[in-house]
Amino acid sequence: KLVIERVSKRFPMKGGREILAIEEASFTVEENEICVILGPSGCGKSTVLRMIAGLETPTTGALRLDGSAIAGPDRERGMVFQAYTSFDWLSVRGNVEYGMRINGVPKDERRERAQRYIDLVHLAGFEDAYPAQLSGGMKQRVAIARTLANDPALLLMDEPFGALDAETRWHMQELLVAIAEAANTTTVMVTHDIEEAIFLGDRIVFMSAHPGRVHRIITPEFKKGRRYASKEAVLDLP
Ligand code: ATP
Ligand code: MG
Repeated sequence: KLVIERVSKRFPMKGGREILAIEEASFTVEENEICVILGPSGCGKSTVLRMIAGLETPTTGALRLDGSAIAGPDRERGMVFQAYTSFDWLSVRGNVEYGMRINGVPKDERRERAQRYIDLVHLAGFEDAYPAQLSGGMKQRVAIARTLANDPALLLMDEPFGALDAETRWHMQELLVAIAEAANTTTVMVTHDIEEAIFLGDRIVFMSAHPGRVHRIITPEFKKGRRYASKEAVLDLP
């Protein structure tokens, strides 16, 4: 369980001034949930996500994962960024194995685990391809597989589909639901696409800007603890 408690963040500016980016944000994310953070540009979504990742420290307030304070980046929390961040000099397999190699996972296990995640994101057959040979959506799937292969307790994604065309984005959203089910991950994802938020979110945190605040949290009633595997199913609801 992720608990964010009255977190504020100030950034220093030139001339000794400060900007209040986030003011007293609080929300929790239960295990196995997909939590979506939604809000206008500049409201602090990425900053919240970066604090959860431990890449940024709160000015006041607390962030806890399963009872322990979040202090610095950790393998427990895997991050997928908006821009494609695959390593161009490594094959798909090399990218997915990378973190495991750094962490000393033995070769056989590494191979097997990498294959599992490559299959999960539908990249079987592309193991030996290099990022330059892949489409944007495929590269983003590599990034997701690579992050999942490290077995993070929390999957953090900052507008992961923002750069994709509408149709690819649609497929990726459905894939993410399948991944959340199959890999049992807890996901916190940032988007400014409300339809994406409603489809994916078991919990939706609405933020507003100047300063960034959480002004509403909803757990869509119509889902009642279940997820819809396809977008048609949601759009067809009465
Ligand atoms: P977008 O939807 O455009 O990605 P966002 O909701 O992710 O926006 P943030 O990037 O979190 O917004 O930024 C929130 C506020 O904090 C902005 O006013 C931004 O200028 C400021 N900010 C973020 N990071 C820094 C930083 N490292 N130094 C100074 N100010 C920052
Ligand atoms: Mg952002």
